[in-house]
Amino acid sequence: MDNCIFCRIVAGTIPAKIVHQDDQVLAFEDINAQAPVHILVIPKRHVAAVQDCADGDQALLGKLLLTCAEVARARKLNGSGYRIVTNTGADSGQTVFHLHLHVLGGRPMGWPPG
Ligand code: IMP
Repeated sequence: MDNCIFCRIVAGTIPAKIVHQDDQVLAFEDINAQAPVHILVIPKRHVAAVQDCADGDQALLGKLLLTCAEVARARKLNGSGYRIVTNTGADSGQTVFHLHLHVLGGRPMGWPPG
């Protein structure tokens, strides 16, 4: 999608600090990090949010979660722990409407989130 910032990152027309990718998923540093580690994991194919996924997306959704675990392990967050978040829709605070999982770590986090 031409007007989707994350599709542009996938296409390479907007720069990003890419930390991992394969044929289906891309992981890159969040431009406005909210923790010492803040990485976004996205499908390369455009899907607006998790609510737009269907049964056929099960493998992709599993891969996104496993990629989060992989990037967290690479940043040595397994011992201290980390948070995986996906905002869905306006009330959640979603601002980019291309499915993404935030991997946040490197500091203690409060609960519930604001
Ligand atoms: P959301 O609020 O859950 O939709 O999260 C969107 C995230 O995308 C925010 O944490 C932004 O800082 C991040 N973001 C927006 N534009 C870019 C970019 O060009 N590169 C990397 N991260 C971005």
